[in-house]
Amino acid sequence: MSMNQIIQQITKSKRVLLATHIHPDGDAIGSLLSMGLALEEIKKKVQLYNESVLPAVYNFLPSIHRIKDDAGDLEIYDTVIILDCSDLQRVGNAAGAISRIPTIINIDHHATNSRFGNYQFIDPKASATTELIYRLITAMEIPVTTAVAYAIYTGIMADTGSFRFSNTTQEAFKICHEMVRHGADPHKVAQHVYETISLKRVKLLNMLFDTIEVSENGKLSIMTLTQNMLHATGTSITDVNGLINYARRIENVKVAALLYERASGRQLRSPNGSAFHVSLRSDGSVNVANIATAFGGGGHRSAAGFDTLGTLPELKNELYSISDHL
Ligand code: 5GP
Ligand code: MN
Repeated sequence: MSMNQIIQQITKSKRVLLATHIHPDGDAIGSLLSMGLALEEIKKKVQLYNESVLPAVYNFLPSIHRIKDDAGDLEIYDTVIILDCSDLQRVGNAAGAISRIPTIINIDHHATNSRFGNYQFIDPKASATTELIYRLITAMEIPVTTAVAYAIYTGIMADTGSFRFSNTTQEAFKICHEMVRHGADPHKVAQHVYETISLKRVKLLNMLFDTIEVSENGKLSIMTLTQNMLHATGTSITDVNGLINYARRIENVKVAALLYERASGRQLRSPNGSAFHVSLRSDGSVNVANIATAFGGGGHRSAAGFDTLGTLPELKNELYSISDHL
């Protein structure tokens, strides 16, 4: 599907809902803000929606308060734009209701995208979804405000791990250069996103370090995060963003897994097990999207995830059996 068809469709729309995945990261939040604020520039009525509590490190982004966890009456929207989601379910509880909005536009950079919706703008070569939004905004000749510049810069910075991951391309730098020219201050973004860490988050990190296990061949590391650890430190899941990277940086480790016990399942040792979200990261030599897809999830080559039910020992055993083939 060409970008022109998407642009034609967006141009025709009047009331647009914009949504992204639960537990949003910098790219998800940056996508919501940049697309939403750009559409407002061309006089569209927009509502920015996300179901989760947003990580506090993004509170500095201009207009962040525009993102609401309640989209109100969904019947008023003619169009919904779903950003940075490999499938519609990633939006969370509202996915069913949102799927009834007449026109669904899917903008994403996951190779595992299910191609849902009436219109798709998907490019797995894009460093971030915000890179795709930059392309749309420029093609539509919408002026880049400072708020939009901050959102796009932050999205690309977050998804490239501060320009260190393998998706760090010339294009990513070129767009970020543009965004800095339009008023985004890289030092300010870095200060907020990376250089400020609450004491309770440090305490949580300490507990997480204690749970690290490495497979016999040294290629897989596992971190475990329980609800009790969040309670004990007074943290929430938004404080966990990025901490898995410590497990990934361990020498010889190719794949790191973070097993997060969801709030719905407290009894880790119950025979029926609990609900887990598993985050996977690789050093780039292993495609973790394939592993996540085999478990019903998805993602990118170096960052992927899935949801599963089971006991902690079962889950670890399954992952250890994969480590033999790494
Ligand atoms: P995280 O580990 O931060 O939850 O997710 C890492 C990457 O994997 C993200 O790009 C995210 O979109 C993808 N991902 C994580 N969990 C799931 C899941 O349950 N389903 C799918 N399709 N993708 C996921
Ligand atoms: Mn992304």
